[in-house]
Amino acid sequence: MSGTIIIGASHAGLSCAEKLRQLGYEADITVIERDTGMPIQRPPLSKAYLAADEADEANFALRRPAFFEQMQVSFRDGVSVTSIHAADNTVRLSDDSLLNYDNLVLATGAVPRALPAVPEGLKGVHMLRTAADARGLRADLQQTKTAIVIGGGYIGLEAAASLRKHGIDVHVLELADRLLARVASSPISAFYKDLHEAHGVQIHLQAAAEAFHKDKGRISGVRLQDGADIPCEMLLVGIGVIPDMELAEAAGIQTGNGILVDAEYRTNIENIFAIGDVAHCDARWGMRLESIHHAQFSGALVASYITEGKPPVEEAPWFWSDQYDVKLQIAGLIPAADTEGLVHQKRPGRKDGSFSIWSWQDTILKAVESANDPKAYMVGKACLETGISPSREQIADPDMDLKLLLAR
Ligand code: NAP
Repeated sequence: MSGTIIIGASHAGLSCAEKLRQLGYEADITVIERDTGMPIQRPPLSKAYLAADEADEANFALRRPAFFEQMQVSFRDGVSVTSIHAADNTVRLSDDSLLNYDNLVLATGAVPRALPAVPEGLKGVHMLRTAADARGLRADLQQTKTAIVIGGGYIGLEAAASLRKHGIDVHVLELADRLLARVASSPISAFYKDLHEAHGVQIHLQAAAEAFHKDKGRISGVRLQDGADIPCEMLLVGIGVIPDMELAEAAGIQTGNGILVDAEYRTNIENIFAIGDVAHCDARWGMRLESIHHAQFSGALVASYITEGKPPVEEAPWFWSDQYDVKLQIAGLIPAADTEGLVHQKRPGRKDGSFSIWSWQDTILKAVESANDPKAYMVGKACLETGISPSREQIADPDMDLKLLLAR
């Protein structure tokens, strides 16, 4: 057999398989996934999935059940690729079979970063990446009155909001001096601190966990570096992810902070591509992106190269996060807080409490973050995609109709 082998039934992997067929690819497509069962969407795992019950599982499927049959994609779940042999275009699987490929696409994603100081095997300690992780967390909610979340990124904050909905007291410990430091502007960080505190979450910034207490094999509390002790029955660690690139490294594929790919998501080895969270495409983004947009775009782009078909529309990077009754939508990439020439401007939206934060580096618009303000998001995203940089004064003027920015 040859054709295209995709390692990982992720958002990226399945987007690639789907696009290959849509672009008329006729050879075999095989998706190999080490987890068992139908792939599910990841974004709800820290939100709706935690409030659902087992009977709702099908609502979270990444594709409809007939997807693989209709797309004539062979799906091999519960088996992993153990090695890549680029010299003869084959991969070996954990069941010892050997498969040939014409094109190999690595969509291996990323694994949660562990906190080494947490004793192994303690009940009540969770990470959140897979459906099994989310089921474990969900099962524990009933016996939890107080939870500690380590990491004030998207996972930590979305989970904190979900836990509050279950009436659980929540503490969030974040090492940095603000929440979402890696992924949001400082005004948005401040907004989320206030929002969570208004919902009763205790936010501890520049806070490091020093020791973990246990009682009868279950986590019972955390001591902070400043000596404070916080009791808990549950600990969620959400301190970022590490790209899963062991297979690639063993095969001689160049890696750094992810599998290094060129602007076409090709690795240094012919006919081997990497897409999604694991791919570090510096040529396009200047950084490794972890997002649904990047998963879908990179998957579709690689499919277009394999088929010599039409490439996907190039969009500004986009993200979203749902916490309490706030929908955050981000277009563009937020420059690091210490970037020279970085300025932010807040603009109120139409609905009560809605607003957007516009960020420029010098006079160039870099990102728009909107809270319950989809119009600002849509106009900001269109500005980024068409190279329009409104002035700070224009954005600061609440009477200026945003849509006028797009009228050339
Ligand atoms: P993240 O965005 O990297 O946030 C982790 C946070 O934890 C960072 O602020 C990090 O600070 C901090 N941290 C690291 N070590 C710590 C420690 N020992 N104690 C306290 N804080 C510590 O990653 P994440 O929230 O775990 O999310 C994981 C993945 O899921 C990402 O790919 C994310 O994009 C994705 N996700 C996305 C969404 C969304 O887009 N809505 C929702 C959920 C998950 P430093 O940066 O200083 O290390």
